[in-house]
Amino acid sequence: MSILELRDVHRVHGHGETAVHALAGVTLTVAAGELVAVMGPSGSGKSTLLNLAGGLDRPSQGEVVVDGTVLGECDRRTLAALRRRRIGYVFQDLNLLASLTAVENVALPLELDGVGVRKARLLAETALSEVDLGDLAERFPDELSGGQQQRVAIARALIGERRLVLADEPTGALDSHTGESVLRLLRSKVDGGAAGVLVTHDARHAAWADRVVFLRDGIIVDTSGPLDEPDALLAQDGAR
Ligand code: ADP
Ligand code: MG
Repeated sequence: MSILELRDVHRVHGHGETAVHALAGVTLTVAAGELVAVMGPSGSGKSTLLNLAGGLDRPSQGEVVVDGTVLGECDRRTLAALRRRRIGYVFQDLNLLASLTAVENVALPLELDGVGVRKARLLAETALSEVDLGDLAERFPDELSGGQQQRVAIARALIGERRLVLADEPTGALDSHTGESVLRLLRSKVDGGAAGVLVTHDARHAAWADRVVFLRDGIIVDTSGPLDEPDALLAQDGAR
């Protein structure tokens, strides 16, 4: 069952002579239980693709379908609810709320969705334990290291019944050990039935995916199946 479908999606930023064709006709389907890595040079449209998939941006042409819903046909309220409940975002900009503790940050999306405070808190504590932060649940973001903050953000992105998980270079600022644990969490969420899209520069991270899609100048130029030889990709790293 496909959870994410991009149908001939275009996105033009700006107008006239300064217009940038960030995506120039991308068709991509991601099924439940499937993790797709997106690689490509800087400026090739990776973040644009992810923003469109998550309903944070709208295509200039083409359709985006998430869990059977055509995003372009949704009113703002429906789209907001879909984004809040069904889509998890792991972006480099963490967006943790400084005035809330780690556990409060993680519980927030559930509470916004009407889950009771006590239940939301319990679920949030469990989610933090899963990222090895059970002992730090009461700390504020500025009392946590960069890597710990990142894991709080991951816990918040994966909590609840997400159908689609989107990650834009989620391991950017992390040491390789923490980066690995982030990928493991993403992978297990997908193995639990979500669909995942992971933007990464790192072939070792792409090796966690079932499929790798290569973007260049806003189009998909290549797709590979399961990566059993990440070294072969590393050799192409000029493609970043
Ligand atoms: P990537 O994530 O692969 O580096 P992006 O999707 O961020 O690529 O950008 C693709 C192209 O679209 C780039 O040329 C970028 O400069 C341009 N672009 C992205 N967002 C905007 C924007 N909001 N306004 C104008 N141009 C943009
Ligand atoms: Mg980007």
